[in-house]
Order: sequence, then structure tokens, then C-alpha cells
Amino acid sequence: MAKEHDEIYELFRKSKHFVFFTGAGISTNAGIPDFRSPNGLYRLIDKTYDLPFPEAVFEINFFRQNPEPFFRLSSKLLSRNPEPTQCHRFIAWLEHTGRVSLVMTQNIDMLHQKAGSEKVHECHGSYSTSTCQDCGKKSGYDEIEKPLKSGQIPLCTCGGVIKPDVVFFGEQLPDMFYSYLRKPPMADLIVIMGTSLNVFPSAQFALDLAARVPSVLVNLSPTNYDMAMTHVVNEDLDVFAEKLWDRLK
Ligand SMILES: [Zn+2]
Repeated sequence: MAKEHDEIYELFRKSKHFVFFTGAGISTNAGIPDFRSPNGLYRLIDKTYDLPFPEAVFEINFFRQNPEPFFRLSSKLLSRNPEPTQCHRFIAWLEHTGRVSLVMTQNIDMLHQKAGSEKVHECHGSYSTSTCQDCGKKSGYDEIEKPLKSGQIPLCTCGGVIKPDVVFFGEQLPDMFYSYLRKPPMADLIVIMGTSLNVFPSAQFALDLAARVPSVLVNLSPTNYDMAMTHVVNEDLDVFAEKLWDRLK
């Protein structure tokens, strides 16, 4: 393991164009439940939610009929005011050294930005912007933060429901994601953190890059794609980031 860490350190030291791809595992230490793990997000949903099945909370067709469960769950998540982890901060620090081309994240929690990263693409959207489902008017997070945190359904002046631009099941990923998929940013290293790469098409972005440039996958548990990576580390992401950060500073 020590040798593996030395090799990864060398890669990080030499690389000039990092691309990061992050998933739920980077935010679990911030107290944000992962979608699929046994202690995950769906555990927060109890019988009182009145859902046909837990995933319906993120299904666009269900939302159009009944947006209440989504806003109830959102208030539980957002009112916790999560703080970025050491791993988020490490990525932001690397960006400030001028060596990060892109941080692509599957997370909707906005923690990369809160840590100071700017070159972020949220391929599953986030709460940072919202769209009225009737008139299409856009709003920023500040404009609907209050109803979001209190679990109310934010309404537009036209009377329509304002939906955060989180990508639901049954919705397309942002056009920008497909642009990055077709033409990835300059990269000499892809670092994949906190994901088992089983959500598509987003995972395709990381796998395509990993086929072309050296790759490091850091995840608490093994994934089906470990063989496709140059280096795999199975440990706590913050422990990993702190060790590396100490040596790179
Ligand atoms: Zn409207």
C-alpha cells in the first residue's frame, strides 16, 4: 500500500491538468447520506411520505403529480447546512495552484463550490438554480432558499411550481455534460473519488478518460471498474486526501 501511495504522490506532483470526477462518497463525511448505501438517503423516507416506492421522490413524472415529497426531503438535506470535507478542500487547493481543468461531480450538494472550487460541472444538476415548471423563469438559490429549507413548495409569480435544477430520473443530463463527454477538457490525470461508477451516462465520462490517461480511483469499497484503473485505493477519502495534501504542500 505504501508503494501505491508513493506512485500516486508522484502522479499528483507531476500532473498539470487534473480532472476530478466525484460521487456521493466524497460527501458522506459531511453528513450527506449516499443514495444507495444501507444508511443512505432513502432511509430518510418513511411511510408518511406517501410514495409508491422511494425512488419516486426523484422521478419527474411523479414530481409533476405530487412535488411535496421532494421538497420535504430537500428541506431535511438543506437545513443541515453541511460543510465541505477535507477532500473537497484539497481539490479546491489544487485548483488554486492552477492545475485543475475540471471537477465533474454527480453530487447535488454544492460542496465543491463551498470549498472554493470554481471549475465545477454538476452533471446531475443541483439546487444552485431552479426553473418554474410553467413559465420557465429561472431563479437562483438565494431566491428560494427560505421555502426550500422549510419544506414548502416554492411557487412562481405565475403560480407554477419552481423546481430546483436537480436532474431527476426521466430527465436529460445538462447539454454541457454531453459537450464534455464528446470533447473532454485537457487532462493528464483523472482522479475518481467516492463513486462505484455505476450511474450512467455520467460514469462514462470518467471511464472514457481513464482509458486515455493515468487514473486514480479512491473509494471506500472495490468497484466493478478497478481493473480499468492505473491505481485503486480503498480507504476513507479524507484520510487519503490529508496524507497526500501534507506531502504536496
Ligand atoms: Zn412561472
